Amino acid sequence: MHKKILYKKAYRLLKNSTPLKFDCGLICNRRCCSGDNEAGMCLYPGEESILAGHDEFLNIRKDKMRDTDVLFAVCSNKCNRNYRPLACRIFPYAPYIDRDGRLTVIEDPRAKYLCPLLMEPFGLKIDRRFRRNVIKAFRILIMDDEIKSFISLISAVLDDYRRMLGILRH
Ligand code: SF4
Ligand code: SF4
Repeated sequence: MHKKILYKKAYRLLKNSTPLKFDCGLICNRRCCSGDNEAGMCLYPGEESILAGHDEFLNIRKDKMRDTDVLFAVCSNKCNRNYRPLACRIFPYAPYIDRDGRLTVIEDPRAKYLCPLLMEPFGLKIDRRFRRNVIKAFRILIMDDEIKSFISLISAVLDDYRRMLGILRH
């Protein structure tokens, strides 16, 4: 199936699905949208095709993740929610393919000291339906081999972060 169709399905699943039943940006003043304006959000392979034509809001830049070419979308902070990249829709989760090749969703270790939803003292529980929808979206996306290998790459990068934070021991 064409990547654009897969992304449309994934975007639709995550259109109104959010980590909490209310706008969690109210708790933290939208920390995940006020990060490094140069860095941006990592795009999944081919995701740029669905974002084309929205350069008033998103700029796409090239970079590398390990040795792989990757695109990042840098937003102007005036969010057009219909065209939020996947990385924004799933935050603070990330897709993860384990050593047995199984797809799951984990808390993104890069969000551990940023997002109150991952900080125990806040006692906030992420809506299970949101997690389920994130998994469903990635089950659709891994039908594409290129996207699947990219998620394996992300998983290896996340493992490095998890080791650094002592979440992963080996
Ligand atoms: S940092 Fe976490 S709590 Fe804050 S807006 Fe982003 S996802 Fe919501
Ligand atoms: S695209 Fe929207 S959700 Fe994503 S970082 Fe920018 S303002 Fe936040």
